[in-house]
Amino acid sequence: MSPSETSDPWTVSRMIAWAADDFRSKGSDSPRLDAELLLGRILDKDRVALIMEAGRPLNDDELRAFKQLVVRRRRGEPIAYILGQREFYGHVFRVDKNVLVPRPDTEILVGLALKETQKNDQFGLALDLCTGSGCVAVSFALERPNWRVTATDLSAGALGVARANAERLGASWSLNFREGSLFECIAPGTKFDVIVSNPPYIPSGEIAELKADIKDFEPRIALDGGPKGFDLVDVIIQQAPNFLAPGGLLALEIGAGQAPHTASLMRAQGFVDTASHADYGHIERVVTGRIAERDA
Ligand code: GLN
Repeated sequence: MSPSETSDPWTVSRMIAWAADDFRSKGSDSPRLDAELLLGRILDKDRVALIMEAGRPLNDDELRAFKQLVVRRRRGEPIAYILGQREFYGHVFRVDKNVLVPRPDTEILVGLALKETQKNDQFGLALDLCTGSGCVAVSFALERPNWRVTATDLSAGALGVARANAERLGASWSLNFREGSLFECIAPGTKFDVIVSNPPYIPSGEIAELKADIKDFEPRIALDGGPKGFDLVDVIIQQAPNFLAPGGLLALEIGAGQAPHTASLMRAQGFVDTASHADYGHIERVVTGRIAERDA
């Protein structure tokens, strides 16, 4: 039932239930959460406060503003773009249409880079290729304040978002941002201890099959990995050995079913100890490999 079909007041709980039903029918994976986040933005309340005020009626301005956000979400616009932010690795990142919305599964990349560098938290060099919002580079830099982190992206718009996130979250002093394609903007001879990347890896032909939230709103340049999805992955694996210190680690996020090709390409390029790491949905999401230590 639409709120306009009854004379009961349009309370917080009724508006949330109505919007959640609507989002559910449009295929949202998290309809209630979506509704709570949007109403929370209008009322400037967190989710707990909304529950406490479940019976509070909304005034006309609040209703009008909420319905405008509901219309945007109904068309598929990701909640993160509507709110302009998304939480990742415990930090709030600003996001806009220049960058992919940070996914929880990508937190695994950060976790692997941190585990790798536990033994040497004093100094090291890390590189994040295709940084997007900067979520991986900034989250890593905040945990390893003695390290220098270089973050690159082809998109000037994305780098603007990443820089602003680094500044807001207090990580800009340990980060360098470079605009360019993959290793093109890295000085030859630079050797990193860790290289991470969440590059575009979706096969071009599969983009049209993605949910509207993704295909109609997220930047194609951040998703499209070429005919088989491996255009960037292949270049990263081929060139990474030139930019890794002996013993250095490459950790790459990839899509469902892409781990075997990724790992075998790494081995063909001389990487050792290759391994796949599952995401929260048990999909092999990150492949790691190491450049062998030189014999003493
Ligand atoms: N994981 C994202 C998705 O499935 C894609 C991210 C990427 O291409 N790097 O939509």
